[in-house]
Amino acid sequence: MKLGFDIDDTLIDLRQHAFHLYNQKLGQNIGVDVFEAIPTLEIHEAFGMTREEGGAMWANLRDEIYYTSCPPFPHAVEMLNELVEAGHEVYYITARPKNHCGRTLEWLLKNGFPVADGHFYCGMDDKEKVHIIKELELDYYFDDKPAVLETLSDLALQVYVRDRSYNRHLKLPRITSWEQLKDEMNKGDIPKSE
Ligand SMILES: [Mg+2]
Repeated sequence: MKLGFDIDDTLIDLRQHAFHLYNQKLGQNIGVDVFEAIPTLEIHEAFGMTREEGGAMWANLRDEIYYTSCPPFPHAVEMLNELVEAGHEVYYITARPKNHCGRTLEWLLKNGFPVADGHFYCGMDDKEKVHIIKELELDYYFDDKPAVLETLSDLALQVYVRDRSYNRHLKLPRITSWEQLKDEMNKGDIPKSE
């Protein structure tokens, strides 16, 4: 099988990592319960920031957000390694900016993700992911972002949403823990996404 994965907030807990960094930098102590209820992909509102202030904060901290100790979601690294060992092909498709692609690939490898040559796609627009997913003829694709998932409904592959607070309205098969992935693949007759 060919499986494609978004990275941020699909395989790794990037927003929560950023949330902790925002707390530190701003000298605040806003709770994880607040984080878990944020209805938007952006986290700035929890800190009382405007969209512009939030954008500037993210841009200033981007290197720290991306390349420090962002934790992978539980079982993500183990599950992807198991898939590769079992002969499946794992692809990464991330819309991180082009100038961050090299370091992002290094970070993935350093943190134990299996990345084969040519299986890392980076620096495209959200709306361009669909073309790569189509060309690769993936069997499965996993992402957290509504704006990406909404572009994939016509493709003949199994699309899953990685469960997060801002995507609960999507009517798609849902992954809440990476432990669940093997069971999903073993189901055989998996329902097509709506
Ligand atoms: Mg994402």
